[in-house]
Amino acid sequence: MTTSHGGAADQGSHRPAADVDVLVVGAGITGIYQLHRAREAGFTVALLEAGAGVGGTWYWNRYPGARFDSESYTYGYLFSRELFDEWEWREHFAAQPETERYLNHVVDRFDLRRHIRLGARVTSAAFDEPAAMWTVVGADGTELRARHVVAATGVLSVPYVPDVPGRGDFRGESYHTGRWPATPVDFAGKRVAVIGTGSSGVQIVPAIADDVASLTVYQRTPNWCTPLNNAPISPAEQAQLRAGFDAMCEVLNTSVHGFLHPAHDRTAFDDPADERRAFFEKMWQSPGFSKLTSNYTDLLFDHDANAEWCRFIAEKVRGIVEDPDTAEKLIPKDHRFGEKRPPFVAGYYEAFNRPRVSLVDLQESPIVRITERGIETAGGVRDVDVIVWATGFDFGTGALLRMGIRGRDGLALEAHWADGPTTFLGIQTAGFPNLFFPGGPHAAAGNNPRYNGDQVDFVTDTLVYVRDHGYDTIEVDPAAEARWTDMVNRNVALSSFTERSYYYGTNIPGKPRRYLLNSGGRPKLFKEIARVVETDYSPFRLARSSDGGDRRHR
Ligand SMILES: Cc1cc2nc3c(=O)[nH]c(=O)nc-3n(C[C@H](O)[C@H](O)[C@H](O)COP(=O)(O)OP(=O)(O)OC[C@H]3O[C@@H](n4cnc5c(N)ncnc54)[C@H](O)[C@@H]3O)c2cc1C
Repeated sequence: MTTSHGGAADQGSHRPAADVDVLVVGAGITGIYQLHRAREAGFTVALLEAGAGVGGTWYWNRYPGARFDSESYTYGYLFSRELFDEWEWREHFAAQPETERYLNHVVDRFDLRRHIRLGARVTSAAFDEPAAMWTVVGADGTELRARHVVAATGVLSVPYVPDVPGRGDFRGESYHTGRWPATPVDFAGKRVAVIGTGSSGVQIVPAIADDVASLTVYQRTPNWCTPLNNAPISPAEQAQLRAGFDAMCEVLNTSVHGFLHPAHDRTAFDDPADERRAFFEKMWQSPGFSKLTSNYTDLLFDHDANAEWCRFIAEKVRGIVEDPDTAEKLIPKDHRFGEKRPPFVAGYYEAFNRPRVSLVDLQESPIVRITERGIETAGGVRDVDVIVWATGFDFGTGALLRMGIRGRDGLALEAHWADGPTTFLGIQTAGFPNLFFPGGPHAAAGNNPRYNGDQVDFVTDTLVYVRDHGYDTIEVDPAAEARWTDMVNRNVALSSFTERSYYYGTNIPGKPRRYLLNSGGRPKLFKEIARVVETDYSPFRLARSSDGGDRRHR
């Protein structure tokens, strides 16, 4: 890894030299973009990544069936027309290997790899106040001094495995979907258990159902799954995508959710029952998230409208799954569509029609313990060869709180966020100068790279502002942080997600129940960024070392 790129941030300044101006942590789609933008802006840069490869989510989640729920071309980078033109996504919803290849291509095409150190998990990042810089230490022995740290550590990068008694006793193979091994797992002829039926669980089940000797799916709560409706991208569609690049960027860069799907203009009961049914059928056949974004405008907020859609999905499930008892268990009873992040599927319900696939309802028969040879529930013991933990992640704050971040006066981020994260724009938190975390808590809701990209663009503009005005530190004012955090908590009422969703951290025992997305969405982010620029960065405290510790420059 080289850390030098001819940047001149410290030149001609009295401040002590750092190893780099900008240290990025995390080589997912957010961190790679941040590395590129910071270097293009003339900063010296480096990136530390815990994994042995780049790609973040698309490096770690290499389980069979892992793929996008966002359309491939809407998820990829838009900053380079040449990149867009030369990369041909093969499917509307690419599978993990293609996305991992794409992100590696980007890293090489823009000559970023020489700034990246892999296998370098950051275990400590401490702000050195007199020097106005961060000392960052990795588990591999890396130590770097950086003027600014951008933690692009992801919201779904810390896998969660529930503390089930006996977990360590199991003698077979065990994998978490979010830490899937690089060498493919051989399921042939094996008795397999999949625990968890969230987005990852429902992807892996149909992907391995034909290979296994038996597959037992352990379900705590069913989700409202609807078809992904993936397809290859035809040559004609490839040509259309290229011809429509500018118009596509316009929509993706401005739309509320960062998707291309057009919004509908009718409420559910504007239509008579037969037309509503026909419309629901059209939605069922539509791609991915359009079932949320292009459905009836009142679907997520009108109880009756939502109930109609849920009834429609339940009928579909009963029509697909041959065993009525299994079908009923697969239909959610405890939440409405859109209260949790809905998974999208290809062949999930159909998998239960194979004699070798069975469902265990954990509400009926909770897991008692893991044994040496299998899983014991209240209903009995099943011996298995492989356990797949599809049990999700410590969402939002998991990675940041495990990075050993210490701000002013040694303030631990864990202490500052003991009651949940407080942020400004989902980018900075008070007491931690020169630390940014795009793509972290209070960030995305929708097509992630679009929101995270907005944040990276703003972080980069901010770094340039700080440098060009000769400041050494930038730190959000606590009042601005409180204002943004209040906005997030207040606007939760406008979100369809409820506390049943992992977006509140509900799946992690002991985690504060706080909304971890930006409930104000992209409009609030854009509005506030515009305000920051108009008011010459008034929500921030800026300082020069020569100010003798004066934290505000004006
Ligand atoms: C299976 C799956 C499917 C998904 N599908 C979609 C989708 O279709 N559409 C969508 O919009 N979103 C999807 N997501 C959400 C996805 O996480 C984001 O789209 C996106 O990948 C986030 O990118 P990121 O770079 O911010 O974070 P990540 O991709 O999570 O990258 C963060 C990186 O930081 C590294 N890191 C963390 N802590 C440290 C540390 N202390 N030291 C060093 N490195 C560290 C991690 O190893 C990781 O590589 C999906 C998530 C999963 C798990």
